[in-house]
Amino acid sequence: MSKEAISILVADKGSPAIDVIKSTLGNYSDIKYTIDTATSGSDAISKASDNNFDLLLVGQDLPGAKGLKMVQEIIKRKLGLPVIMIVAEGQEKLGVKAMDKGAYDYLTNNEIKTVALDRAIRRVLQRKKLESDIRESFKKLEKLAIKDGLTGLFNYRHFREVLKNEYKKAKRYSQPLSCIMIDLDYFKAVNDNYGHQYGDFVLAQSAQILKRLVRDTDFVARYGGEEFFIILPNTDLQGAFILAERIRKVFVNNKFTKDKISETVTVSAGISATSDENVVSDEDLIANADKALYRAKWRGRDNVCYFGEIESEDTVGLKEELKKVEDFYVRFDTINENIKETCIASAHNILCEIEKGWDYISEHSVRVSQYAEKLSRKLSMPEEDVNVIKHAALLHDIGMVGINSNIIKKKDKLTDKEYNSIKRHANIGVRIIERTKLFQKELPIILHHHERFDGSGYPHMLKGETIPYGARILAVAEAYDVMRSNTVYKKANSEDKTIAELKECAGTQFDPKIVSAFIKVIEKMH
Ligand code: GH3
Ligand code: MG
Ligand code: MG
Repeated sequence: MSKEAISILVADKGSPAIDVIKSTLGNYSDIKYTIDTATSGSDAISKASDNNFDLLLVGQDLPGAKGLKMVQEIIKRKLGLPVIMIVAEGQEKLGVKAMDKGAYDYLTNNEIKTVALDRAIRRVLQRKKLESDIRESFKKLEKLAIKDGLTGLFNYRHFREVLKNEYKKAKRYSQPLSCIMIDLDYFKAVNDNYGHQYGDFVLAQSAQILKRLVRDTDFVARYGGEEFFIILPNTDLQGAFILAERIRKVFVNNKFTKDKISETVTVSAGISATSDENVVSDEDLIANADKALYRAKWRGRDNVCYFGEIESEDTVGLKEELKKVEDFYVRFDTINENIKETCIASAHNILCEIEKGWDYISEHSVRVSQYAEKLSRKLSMPEEDVNVIKHAALLHDIGMVGINSNIIKKKDKLTDKEYNSIKRHANIGVRIIERTKLFQKELPIILHHHERFDGSGYPHMLKGETIPYGARILAVAEAYDVMRSNTVYKKANSEDKTIAELKECAGTQFDPKIVSAFIKVIEKMH
């Protein structure tokens, strides 16, 4: 048993049980211990979360969180704190239940007066140590592992060893050796729009594609987050280029389909080879592939570049031209932004021409877009993404044009059929907007702005993080505006009532993190 003092948190409704425990430990045990006490559920949770206790002894009738509930709370919070529950005589079944929920043991009120308490504490501490030893062993094993958990590819450490060996071999036997570094294009947007789970799925599938396309003697590794590295022994630059192009094309023609999401993700690739003039170590192969990849990205992505190309591009006096192209990009982006704004304004004009009563959609959209912009900035989104959300907000209700205006203007409660008819506006909006290819990134946000965080929204009943991030932002901004506005069927809610409603729906209708950020935005606005 450890010589250090054991720190125990005793949570029970009053001091009697606490005094009994102190005196039993004093009588029967040579364990050195310190005891802290809590007399309510919230006190116990807060002490257990803030301090590093070795053990929690919790009584069955703790005010505010009965023993069983407390056990569940502690397990849920993953504090790694072993719990022993104390039950009244005849209530042993409750103790068994507590063990089912994750308690280490239980004792009766009589047992805590005896040496059984000391025995139970010793067993708990032994088990805790065993568990921690097992965790340590796992960590060591993980270090020894050569595969990446998500993709099943070789991990970075193993990749470096393989590359070192292959480089040595290539030199010794004067054989060619080539490398391809691959990076998924705009992958951040994939995560932002469809959530990390879908992002992880794309990564795992990408790994499968790469493995399928290479030879048995090649090595595919996960180099970083969404970067892969392929080592091609006995392969010259030309062979590497053919493979890289083949990979690029397979990604272009592929859709990553999971649940209701089906997207294409392109790749950029940089190639290096031992034939590159500057290569004198395996590290140079990595550095060259990285530079070539950077150039492939710069060219606009969905592109393959080999290191030698950069040299020749730069030496034929292209440096100045490259700068001009870069300037062009920046200015062209501004024009692109203006075109989008004109296009959005035209869409609203058409809407109002088609039916007079639609003006309020334009006004509502402008307000939602202002809220969504502030909220996106509060969430520290990059400028480019803020613009996408602004556009999506301005366009999100365009599809209402396809809904019977009697339904929209109806003062009474809608029938199920009428409500189902309104739900079509998200799909109709997407069908209208996708006619121009200008708003590809905005489309998923528009389509999913009525999904609910708990999965009960429409049109696809997406849940949690699988809902595009922008759509979760738009949902909160739109709900706020609807609640704060007078409509045909209701008066505007007060600010306080609206905030209370948003809070109420955090976690069910809305992403709770986005709601709390938005509440800060509103408070600042006033
Ligand atoms: P670029 O075309 O320039 O490569 O754009 P990008 O968005 O792909 O580039 P950036 O390097 O900015 O973003 C890479 C993203 O990859 C950021 C990170 O969220 C994501 N990522 C990295 N590792 C993982 C992972 O294990 N799972 C998921 N889902 N995403 C990851
Ligand atoms: Mg990338
Ligand atoms: Mg990257």
